[in-house]
Amino acid sequence: MTRDTLVLMYHAIPGGSGPGIHADGHYSVTLSTFRRHLDMMVTLGLKPRSVKDLLDAGASVAAEPVVALTFDDGHESNFAAYAEIVRRGGSADLFVNPGTVGTKGYLSWAQLRELARYGASIQSHSLHHVFLDSMPAAEVQHQISESRWIIEDQLGIPPCLFAPPNGRMPAGMARLAFELGYRAVCSSRVGVWRRAHTLEIPRFAVLAGTSDAQLAGWLRRSPWHLGLSLARGRVLTAGKRWLGEGRYQAVRRRLLGA
Ligand SMILES: [Zn+2]
Repeated sequence: MTRDTLVLMYHAIPGGSGPGIHADGHYSVTLSTFRRHLDMMVTLGLKPRSVKDLLDAGASVAAEPVVALTFDDGHESNFAAYAEIVRRGGSADLFVNPGTVGTKGYLSWAQLRELARYGASIQSHSLHHVFLDSMPAAEVQHQISESRWIIEDQLGIPPCLFAPPNGRMPAGMARLAFELGYRAVCSSRVGVWRRAHTLEIPRFAVLAGTSDAQLAGWLRRSPWHLGLSLARGRVLTAGKRWLGEGRYQAVRRRLLGA
């Protein structure tokens, strides 16, 4: 029996006052909030696990109550966040861009090697955090395959998961990633992961504005909270289609007051 899994997507986890360098405050969750989230998961009997661990374990952990944790962008602040996960016996996937690894505000290869020693799964978020739906096919292929080679070269383990920056996927991208050696794509589409369908794994984004009640609702699989977020995701996708990407981003920024 396969179990449906909730996959959460985090970004920067700043420990101090600000979101950290190159981190968008809208997407950042403070370290103290993140600790509270982890404690909530543990209280609800859910073990935080990486998507990779779940893919590797297959049917043997199918019945184990878990929540999958992923982090996009490889922010330096993820180092302390991961230590909190290890303290609770869990694991997570970190999607990094080889083009920014080791630059100011981002995790270094040495830190990623250290995290991998503690069970972190280091995965690809493309080479340079570029929007794949607005570039030629050859460049899309380069971003997907070159990032994989560099991560394997640096860590000795090839990534098996790909997360497109900003969730922007050109048509057929999941299939292309699969052909280039990945097992699945972690997208930004909102939804619960039916583990039998592994080519595209939907995720719930945990943002600065995500309340404890909302997260608890997702973790408890409250139809109300899940349904609301699914509907919101659909509205955003439709909005993007109607407005076009440029106008959509302008409207989004205005709505967020940025
Ligand atoms: Zn990103």
